[in-house]
Amino acid sequence: MDRPEKQLFPYSRKRITALAFLAVILLLLALVLKTIIPAIAALFSVTLLAASLYFRYQGTAGTPDSMMYAFIFFLVRIWLGRKQRVTIDDRLLQEVEGPYILLSNHGSFEDFYYISQIAHPRNPSYLVNEYYCTRPILKTMAKRGGILSKKLFTRDMSTGVRIMRMVRNGFPVVIFPEGRLSPDGCSNPIVENGAAFYRRLRVPLVFVRIDGAYFAHPKWRKETFPSDIRVSVTHVLRPEQLKEVTDVQLDELIAKELYYDASAEVRSCYPQKDKAMGLDSLIYRCIDCGVLYQTEGVGNELRCRACGKTHHLDEHYHFADAPWTIPAYYDQIRRMEAEELESLSLHTAVRTKIFGADGGPVRWEDGECWLDTKAFRYQSGEKSFEIPLEKLPALAFSCGKEFELYHENELHYFYPLEESKQVARWALAVDLMAERRNAVIH
Ligand SMILES: [Zn+2]
Repeated sequence: MDRPEKQLFPYSRKRITALAFLAVILLLLALVLKTIIPAIAALFSVTLLAASLYFRYQGTAGTPDSMMYAFIFFLVRIWLGRKQRVTIDDRLLQEVEGPYILLSNHGSFEDFYYISQIAHPRNPSYLVNEYYCTRPILKTMAKRGGILSKKLFTRDMSTGVRIMRMVRNGFPVVIFPEGRLSPDGCSNPIVENGAAFYRRLRVPLVFVRIDGAYFAHPKWRKETFPSDIRVSVTHVLRPEQLKEVTDVQLDELIAKELYYDASAEVRSCYPQKDKAMGLDSLIYRCIDCGVLYQTEGVGNELRCRACGKTHHLDEHYHFADAPWTIPAYYDQIRRMEAEELESLSLHTAVRTKIFGADGGPVRWEDGECWLDTKAFRYQSGEKSFEIPLEKLPALAFSCGKEFELYHENELHYFYPLEESKQVARWALAVDLMAERRNAVIH
């Protein structure tokens, strides 16, 4: 057997960290003792460190092998570190060679970090909301770090090309096909079908399920609770298996594989005394009396200011009485809204934050938004536009703050001036309308 060639600069991550540590200690020693020997040794270590870094990362800019990627995940590890107990089951991945597309459910913002802990044969790239890749500093970091971006819920051909290039260069790519966080812990419908594209890539499709992430940090709660997170590779479809199914069959299979209900089996206990905090920004309507925007999450209780009804959350995040779970409650709101959908007419005055195209400057303006069964409309002193609902498959939103969409490549954040809880209602209405359109088509 050939002996591996001895490297002049051994550049494993451990050695680079050890070198950096040594350099800092020697520098401190030189400063404290004010003598020449530790100073020379420190200079030598720094030179060795710089050379190691250079050889370790040369030619890797713009890929997940780059120094920037390592730096991003170094920061992420400091930030999220060991906050959660994460268990990984990636046995099915051990037989997969080469690049793949990894598809996962999406319950919390931190999902990318949990997925990074799988034993990937190479660092994966992530497909993220373009918002994170166009701001100053973040833009440079994402580009150099090999992070891929997409304009949410818009047709964006260049994204496909960039994913293809990443895969051809041998890197796995992580995609959350729902394109947004789950509101109630149940998977969102997948509004942008990817089967035809995945089949063209001719690489394995790897399905991952993340358990426990939703209640650790649902989109409606600011605080993170410790939780048992389990990341499992549940299924691998090889390219030859992808050939045997049609696009429609594969899209159905993807939706089925990724379907998840966080309330169905809650493994962790949540002893916190403020489990309902923020829940009213998603559960914006009382199912007992039907009134809008009068619910409030206080301690572990969801109360209605209008009818006085309360629902208590237990340590498994279940209600103590009917409708028993958060998704069941949300479903009842969904049914109420569906019944009134024909006469839907929403309007709000907004403060609008517009992110210039391709990282251009941010500007603010005052305006008004409308939504009915035909279209979304916006008008301000500067401009007005209308988006027919067929071109708006979903509306991303941030609970209690804003809803957002792209128009002419510019991301618009609409902050209602009154009743900020209504953003959840706008998003749900757009979902219901999409559901109704799809029902007609099928
Ligand atoms: Zn009520």
